Amino acid sequence: MSSPVILWFRQDLRLHDLPALHAAAQAGDVLPVFVLDDDAAGAWTPGGASRWWLHHSLAELAASIREAGGELSLRRGDTATALLALCDSVGATQVFCSRRYEPWAAAQESAVNERLAAAGIGIKRYGGALLHEPGSVLTKGGDPFKVFTPFWRACRREPIGAPKEMPTVRWAASRPRSESLDDWELLPHSPNWAEGWETLWAPGEAGASARLNQFLEESVQTYADQRDLPAIDATSRLSPHLHHGELSPRQIWAVCEQYKDAYPEASASVGKFQAELGWREFSYHLLHFFPTIPEDPFKANFAGFPWSTNHEHLERWRRGMTGYPIVDAGMRELWHTGYMHNRVRMVVASFLCKHLLIHWLEGERWFWDTLLDADLASNGCSWQWVAGSGADAAPYFRIFNPITQGEKFDKSGGYVRRWVPEIADLPNKYLHSPWETPADILEHTGIVLGEHYPKPIVDHRSARQAALDAYEVVKISNTAAA
Ligand code: FAD
Repeated sequence: MSSPVILWFRQDLRLHDLPALHAAAQAGDVLPVFVLDDDAAGAWTPGGASRWWLHHSLAELAASIREAGGELSLRRGDTATALLALCDSVGATQVFCSRRYEPWAAAQESAVNERLAAAGIGIKRYGGALLHEPGSVLTKGGDPFKVFTPFWRACRREPIGAPKEMPTVRWAASRPRSESLDDWELLPHSPNWAEGWETLWAPGEAGASARLNQFLEESVQTYADQRDLPAIDATSRLSPHLHHGELSPRQIWAVCEQYKDAYPEASASVGKFQAELGWREFSYHLLHFFPTIPEDPFKANFAGFPWSTNHEHLERWRRGMTGYPIVDAGMRELWHTGYMHNRVRMVVASFLCKHLLIHWLEGERWFWDTLLDADLASNGCSWQWVAGSGADAAPYFRIFNPITQGEKFDKSGGYVRRWVPEIADLPNKYLHSPWETPADILEHTGIVLGEHYPKPIVDHRSARQAALDAYEVVKISNTAAA
């Protein structure tokens, strides 16, 4: 019996369009493994919501492999040690995997490479998580882009290969004993804040593909017009699937191109959706060239920003009790579903950094723990974008007004009423600024502000002025740190 090759699954929990699986299948009998290495990511170990997703995604992957005739081996512990032991037990001399791009993961790859090489085992790494490998799209002068639009224009000039179906795989006959997924305790128990998430989400490759099809059938044509309306299910909600590698951006890209051919009148809307994938690419590109982006301001002069350390404000923001309905609706949506609409993410992030003057790192951390799509590149870059300290960021003086944002993007109040039911009876006119409601209307609805729903924790106008004053202090310029 020939010795098998190891397929080391990482953040690529799928069987279709997976370059590492194709290469492994050509090299020999495939023995798939996933290693839960609790220490590898250091401060960026997956948060609670991501662990919930990971549990279900791994269960789905294991079931798909079993159906195809193989067996996913689960190991917990130091990755290099686990891979070495596995190779030793089955006589494998080759490991195949997909690349990851977080700084810790790149360091992990080097360390694993070194340890395996010392034992005579080769490791081969493949792309598959992005449309373009980081570093492959550069300015004419060979420098990294720092602005999205020219970056995306340059990306569009690069070819994107066609996605591949799952190859014919000969799964290894040797089946080393797997650890039990349940023993890993990735699911929350006390309190089980994820109760009911199964009805909202379908982690795994099949769920990802169903979600993509549903989006194409129901929403892609109106995406450009409705993507900013949080009350409507107008966006793809593919982000947790993409983050966990349950489908590749190349697969999404290909079906979008087919869709545009079939429905040319929808090209602009589909193109807008494709450009959002571009922001994901841009975030990874930035993380590759500026690996401290999740922790340090991209614009160095933000290092001296006079952030507030008001814990009560931070806690009120986390719990959705700021007294600003659109902010509170977003924070509660996040807590209850592990997701928040993009428009509302921008509003709540701006509110934290600018109205409350609390460091974007606090927001990034909270999102890290609570988002199902928590992603080091997209989360770090997006927070810096809102704070004004990032590459191609919103200018510092762009302070989202939580009242007008609510009035504009949740005009009929469906989103706020869903997540902040205690003020659902307010007329639309006052729904986004309850403190302006005339006393007789409050009395009629029986809502007592400060009792049933908080009064605003800061005054919008003075908070806005304080933010502008604070930014003056650091004399913002557009000089990048890098
Ligand atoms: P769609 O509108 O359907 O977009 C399709 C895909 O494009 C998304 O699934 C996502 O992969 C990508 N995408 C869309 N917008 C962005 C963006 N601005 N930046 C990067 N990629 C984007 N996205 C994450 O995937 N993980 C995060 O941790 C994350 N943190 C964020 C934090 C803040 C403060 C903000 C403002 C945005 C953050 N985003 C993050 C980006 C964006 O909000 C989500 O990707 C989007 O809401 C996911 O919903 P969707 O799949 O329906 O998006």
